Formats: sequence, structure tokens, C-alpha cells
Amino acid sequence: MNYVSTNGKSEPIGFGQAIIRGLADDQGLFMPMSIPESQFLREMPPDSQKSEIAFQMMRPFIKASISDKALHNIVVETFNFNLPLTQISPDIWSLELYHGPTLAFKDVGARFLARCLQHLLPDGERITILVATSGDTGSAVAHGFSGVDQVEVVLLYPAGKVSNIQEQQLTTAGDNVTALQVQGDFDDCQRLVKDAFKDDHLRKQFPITSANSINIARWLPQSVYYAVGVSQLPEVDGVDKTVCSVPSGNYGNLTAGILAAKMGTPIDHFIAASNVNKTVPEFLETGTYTPKPSIETLSNAMDVGDPSNFARLLHLYNHDYEAIVNEISGFSFSDDQTIDAINEAFNTFGYIFDPHAAIGYLGLKGFLASESAENWRGIILETAHPSKFHETVSRAIEREVEIPEQLRKCLDREPHSIKINTSYADFKEYLLSRA
Ligand SMILES: *Cc1c(COP(=O)(O)O)cnc(C)c1O
Repeated sequence: MNYVSTNGKSEPIGFGQAIIRGLADDQGLFMPMSIPESQFLREMPPDSQKSEIAFQMMRPFIKASISDKALHNIVVETFNFNLPLTQISPDIWSLELYHGPTLAFKDVGARFLARCLQHLLPDGERITILVATSGDTGSAVAHGFSGVDQVEVVLLYPAGKVSNIQEQQLTTAGDNVTALQVQGDFDDCQRLVKDAFKDDHLRKQFPITSANSINIARWLPQSVYYAVGVSQLPEVDGVDKTVCSVPSGNYGNLTAGILAAKMGTPIDHFIAASNVNKTVPEFLETGTYTPKPSIETLSNAMDVGDPSNFARLLHLYNHDYEAIVNEISGFSFSDDQTIDAINEAFNTFGYIFDPHAAIGYLGLKGFLASESAENWRGIILETAHPSKFHETVSRAIEREVEIPEQLRKCLDREPHSIKINTSYADFKEYLLSRA
């Protein structure tokens, strides 16, 4: 499989090149040249293992670059935690994507990218991943690459601007991960990383690459969640349609779901569930895409006013607006509604949503309440463990949320970070001292 750019002005390239480059030369996002239809997905055996599903789904995208045996190992290592589907009510299910090492769904993409990169690097060659993070992405990348020998990770995070739990996750990942605590804000972190990528002098002596969410190897494996979720639904008489409600920010997760459906996963509709950053729901309503500055909310991983994967959404539907609104419904909710939803779901079903999935829950309820939704059931993608948003969730359910073992272990570990200032010259000197 070759990969083309959503901007259509770059030559198609192979998987290995696409993951090392990250973005196409014309600044578009990479997309597979065609979408392989999968008989396996259409007739998925009910007891399918998630590593088998992942292997079947990823193979056509990758087989020109990675052998079946190596891909098998990569998917087994990537998906080495549970993705349970929990029933909340007769027609509502929660697909819990938060049982990975950092308790958020970004773990899968980061782990898959790390292992593909390691596999594709020539023996003895090393590469450093530079990541600026304001929280969750950084910890997923840090843990995803932890123990992956040929790759070093340097994370930059803003001092005092990430939560205690996030800082602890960023600074305890492992030997090949170095956390730099930047005495500035997130924009300073991003600027330092961008300057490094523009610096040919640095790059000649010190090979670097990025692991941000637009990387094709972080995007593709998210499609696996959807098939794993659907494979766990029981057969029920009279219920023949499935909708997936996706709490969305950058729209990587939702577009990966559409990819899964186009490959043959039996999903009939999608819900783009957003907080007040509602650029995409507005597009669905009006047909006009108007990017906006982001607004801070309680579901902060979705505070995105100009989602980078919107280009992938258009590409998947050949820019056909009618086709898009046929398959996707948009909803947007406020912080107050989010808190009320967490409270309501807890009091009604005894189930605790994190603030992101609470928005997915509201979107699904909105969809199922419409008359045409009688034979439907819905899956909410639960993207983070509620304890990662301890304060908000505890306030909403009026009691303390429990911190799971995984997170508690990380809270006990000794943090390691290096303080740096916001000067590029100093940052460069630091990087070169590692070369
Ligand atoms: C990143 C993230 C999202 C949004 O996912 P996108 O793929 O960016 O739309 C939702 N919830 C949580 C907890 C996240 O970390």
C-alpha cells in the first residue's frame, strides 16, 4: 500500500517513509491510496481475539513494509491490554479504551508507532523523537516508546501547567525517555520543537522525528477499536443497527472509525460528540467549515478549534457533503451538561464516565431519542479512565473516584526531569550534548 497526501500534491510513498516523515511534502496528511475491503470483518467470528482482528485489519496497509511474522508481534505487543465492552443500559454500551499503561486511548497509537518505527530502522541506527506536550499525548508517547531500544524520546512540557498526575506520568516512563521541564508555557515547548525540526545543522548530527497524532501509524490502529467493540456485541432480536458515539477533538479517533466501517466493520452511523469547540458539528449542520480559536473546557483533550484530521474526514468521503451527513451526526455540549451527565449516568446506571465520554453519552442519548432510532443500539468510546480527571469526576458524582493500581504505582515512582529555559540555543546545545 502506498500513501497519498490529503492535499494531493505529493508523490505516493510507502509506509516506512510516511511514518518517518509524519507530514507529506505539501503539508497534507498521509492517507492510504485505497481502502481494502475485508471479508474477515464482514463475517467476523464471534470469539475473535483482538490481536487477530488487529492483524487482519493492519496487514493490507503494511504488508509491503513489514512481514506477517513481525506484524503479528507488533500487534500482540500493542494490544496487550483489555478493550472491554461494558453494557450500561439495554441500548447503550461503553467501549473502555483506558486499560492501557497511561489509562487513555492514545496508548494504542503510540505503542503501534513505536514498534513499527523500531522494526523499520536499520540495525544499529538510532533516532530521537521530540514531542511537545500539554499532557496526555506526551505520557502515551513516553510509555509507548519505553523499552523500545533504538528510539530515544525527549519530551518537553511546560512547568506548572500540567496536572500532578500527568507530570508524574511524564517523568517516570523509563530509561530511554527524558522529560524536559520547560520554564515557559506550552507554546514555548512547541516552538522549541519546531525550531529543532527546521534546523538542518542539528538534524545532520542528530536524527530526529515526531510522534504527533497526525502520524499515519498512530491513526491507522485506532480503527481496530471499532471492530473489537462490535465483535463483543451480542445478537438481539429486532436490533439491527449500530451507532458509535465518539468524543472528538482532533478527529483522529472518529475518522479511524469511518475507515473501519468502510473496510467492512458492521457500523451504520457515527456521532461526532464535541464540547463547545464545535467546528465540526457546525460544519455538519451548515456545510461550512470555519476554524476557531480553541476554548478551554473540562474535557480538555477535545479543546480543538481547527481539528487536523478534518482533512482525513473530507478525503474519506471524496469531499461529498451529502455522504458525510448521511453517516455522521454532530452534537455539542457545555461543561455544565458534562457534569450533569456524569452525575446522571452514575445515579441511574452506577457507571462512571470521564468528562470526554460523558459528552459521547449525551450525543448518543440525543441520537437514540430521535424517532428513526428504534432498532438501534449505541457504543460510546470511553477514551480515558475517570480517575485521570479526578477533581471533575469526584465533584460530579459527589464522592471520591478511586485511583486504579496502575496509576497509583506511577504516583509512587521517583520522578526524573531536567529543567530548561525557553532559549533555542540552550535547547540545541543540550540535544547535541546527547549526540
Ligand atoms: C485525544 C483525546 C480525545 C479526542 O480524540 P481525537 O482523536 O483527537 O478526536 C478524546 N478523549 C480523550 C481522553 C483524549 O485524550
